[in-house]
Amino acid sequence: MQKAEETISFIRDHFKSKGFIPLHEPSFTGNEKDYVLQTIESTFVSSVGAFVDRFEEMMQTLTQTRRAVAVVNGTSGLQVALRLAGVKAGDEVLTQALTFVATANAIAYNGARPVFLDVDLETMGLSPEAVKDFLIEFGEVREQGCYNKKTGNRISACLPMHTFGFPVKIRELVELCDEWKIPIVEDAAESLGSTAEGIPTGKFGKLGVFSFNGNKIVTSGGGGAIVTDDLIIGEKAKFLTTTAKQPHTYEYVHTELGYNYRMPNINAALACAQLESLEHFLKKKRELATSYQIFFNSINYKFRTETEGTRVNYWLMCLELENRKERDAFLKFTNDSKVMTRPIWQLMYKLPMYENCLRDRQENAKYLEDRIVNIPSSVN
Ligand SMILES: *Cc1c(COP(=O)(O)O)cnc(C)c1O
Repeated sequence: MQKAEETISFIRDHFKSKGFIPLHEPSFTGNEKDYVLQTIESTFVSSVGAFVDRFEEMMQTLTQTRRAVAVVNGTSGLQVALRLAGVKAGDEVLTQALTFVATANAIAYNGARPVFLDVDLETMGLSPEAVKDFLIEFGEVREQGCYNKKTGNRISACLPMHTFGFPVKIRELVELCDEWKIPIVEDAAESLGSTAEGIPTGKFGKLGVFSFNGNKIVTSGGGGAIVTDDLIIGEKAKFLTTTAKQPHTYEYVHTELGYNYRMPNINAALACAQLESLEHFLKKKRELATSYQIFFNSINYKFRTETEGTRVNYWLMCLELENRKERDAFLKFTNDSKVMTRPIWQLMYKLPMYENCLRDRQENAKYLEDRIVNIPSSVN
């Protein structure tokens, strides 16, 4: 475990710590305390308040979209975004098996079923080729959209995920799915600050969703945002996530089954302060990625860097090890030494609730599942 040992000392040097080193911890060095205190002093800590509006405006600017809607977490954002894309019970939604469980859960919450397709080796995200192969074999465009001609179900959305902030081949996916009349919802939970062709992730699909959980690049404690360029869909997102309440001076009028998914003002305050630091975080992470790259080249470990035409936020940085055995040994050795490392996720169809879902051969997903590990990536 010579290389793993050298890795540990490099990481300890960088983070200047002999103690436990986490994978990703938040950094609060800006206006966080000030803004959170303002919500307490004004008593507006909950569902009404100026920071929610400010957060939504900041997200619109950052993602270059026309409407951002703050929600309670990324998972609920995905659930509502899929519903707004037109996903209904009994439908099929194309996605990747190599993802965090929330991607698949958001599909299931709508009563729909995920179809797990393979990822690209370079991006670790949904492969346009895999989607194309699937659609050629199973897809049929009818008046109401795309159908799976073998199961008879509607294929009502495609949900690619930008793994660890590395953008998927989103342009190709958009072009392909347009042809097949399938709307795209981007799971951009991990990719705030990442771009493809200079355009922010989350802006390419009909809707995009971000997460502000404690482990993400920017945190609101817990939170999420739905973004879209379609103002009508944006309004509907606000409406559905705020209990579908019709405006009225005093009556409670609800005309649809809505959700209480709004982000509290106290969380939005934290999010606003964090977003002010995003550029700084991106810069620090890029510096760490550069030193990692030089170091890992020198010991002959494969460190993942951005693919052509993309800018990666380097949220969680990763190594590609030789095989499952080397991966397991590396994980054990580093974690035993109190340097936190984690494997990439288990493929979704291995989980009991998704074991009967449609899927393709998953060659690349299996390859990556056996080899990719995350290494400490905090801003320090
Ligand atoms: C974090 C994450 C989510 C969910 O976000 P929460 O805010 O934790 O609900 C969804 N998808 C992916 C890929 C994530 O990493």
